[in-house]
Amino acid sequence: TTTPLYLTGNKAGLREFLDKFDVFLFDCDGVLWSGDHCFPGTVETLELLRKNGKQVVFVTNNSTKSRADYRKKLEGLGIPSNVEEIFSSSYSSSIYISRILQLPSNKRKVYVIGESGIEQELRTENVPFIGGTDPAYRRDVEPEDYKRIAAGDPTLLDPEVGVVLVGLDFHLNYLKLALAYHYVKRGAIFLATNIDSTLPNSGTLFPGAGSMSAPLIMMLGQDPVALGKPSQAMMDAIEGKFKFDRSRACMVGDRANTDIRFGLEGNLGGTLGVLTGVSSKEDFVDGPVRPLAYLDKLSDLLALEQ
Ligand code: PLP
Ligand code: CA
Repeated sequence: TTTPLYLTGNKAGLREFLDKFDVFLFDCDGVLWSGDHCFPGTVETLELLRKNGKQVVFVTNNSTKSRADYRKKLEGLGIPSNVEEIFSSSYSSSIYISRILQLPSNKRKVYVIGESGIEQELRTENVPFIGGTDPAYRRDVEPEDYKRIAAGDPTLLDPEVGVVLVGLDFHLNYLKLALAYHYVKRGAIFLATNIDSTLPNSGTLFPGAGSMSAPLIMMLGQDPVALGKPSQAMMDAIEGKFKFDRSRACMVGDRANTDIRFGLEGNLGGTLGVLTGVSSKEDFVDGPVRPLAYLDKLSDLLALEQ
């Protein structure tokens, strides 16, 4: 581990850094914006990169939205994009299920804990699913349910479920956890869209998708296969679409243990940290996972235009 280069205000260093790469993979929240607040200079910085012939890819662990939702969000912020340039953990999970997992034909259904972004991407991949935003699951567990679950009642435990996929669910409850537990106990594959423990919002932290799978990990004594950053399933999905030269690609992110690790484990040519999100300068400079370089904020790249 070496000390990352601090590039803010270092024009020659910035130029040299940028020349090393043709592709920039961008984490979204904490790099381009925070929640609904777009950082000043984000639009111009992305324009500058594109103008210099750089390919831009958006890579987010947010599973609550689909790629189409993200394209709309980017458009609303003044950032033109194409759905093909967007990789969300909802998408990487869906293609992992549809193209990597070889499920028997009678075990193709996915039991979803999560929001509509996952459902949209599963639909796009023609993967059948239950659970998710279905209001039938937003209820208390009744005494009768315990007996039905114990007996494997097929109207409550669908025998065709072969995968449990857990993402952030704003209506997580006891019934959903109990069903997920029993599906895995009955042999379903345990997947998580991502395992971020927390989620920044309004200047503080809230439970992230990893905190949805945590109770299941506790019950099962088993970790899920996680598909967002830093999982290389996400990198493989991106490479599957773009066939880029990893040595000429740079991952830009705010979180050392997801984004920077994702780039390092993917053997990308570079990683660039920014201090507008979760990780601090100390994390980048002294932590176990260090980027090649870091900036105070993404728009510090605009110094190259002056
Ligand atoms: N998960 C959820 C549900 C989110 O809303 C967000 C950020 O908005 C994230 C994860 C982190 O996203 P990113 O990987 O873009 O930082
Ligand atoms: Ca982030």
